[in-house]
Amino acid sequence: MTTKPKTLATPKTAKAKCLCGAVTLEIDVPARWAFHDHGKAARLTHGAAYATYVGSWRKRFRILKGEDDISQFENGKAGITRSFCGTCGTPLFYETARSPHMVNIPRALFESRTGREPRYHLRIGEQQDWAYTGAELKPLKGFPGVMFERPKKKKPKNPADFPDEF
Ligand SMILES: [Zn+2]
Repeated sequence: MTTKPKTLATPKTAKAKCLCGAVTLEIDVPARWAFHDHGKAARLTHGAAYATYVGSWRKRFRILKGEDDISQFENGKAGITRSFCGTCGTPLFYETARSPHMVNIPRALFESRTGREPRYHLRIGEQQDWAYTGAELKPLKGFPGVMFERPKKKKPKNPADFPDEF
């Protein structure tokens, strides 16, 4: 009896690229896990409300192109090394002394699926009140493609404002 080679519907690797294309990365899929990081360091590194990462085992991570274009920022106190594209500034990955076998890559750099959905939230207590959290959106008249959310209702300060609940 011969064994027919298995054909997979999804590729075994996922490629990631920076904005200018100088650096290309690759991981074997599925990744180890994926998560949202709401902490200050992720926020400032990305200039965004939060960052979404794919965590890969280091042995399943490769730099395919542009290694010489990579710049690094080492935050020695925290034991974290962040790598960026030296040409376009795109955050490429970060590594921690605490988890030396892992590499974390921004999910946005991947153009294909990574085998893991971001179901975990780190430092959610640091989430900013200006972060979009899925509130209902309405089209803004006169600006095609622009949506807006209605201002949040202010919470009453005095419990007496809720006479039925107290
Ligand atoms: Zn680049």
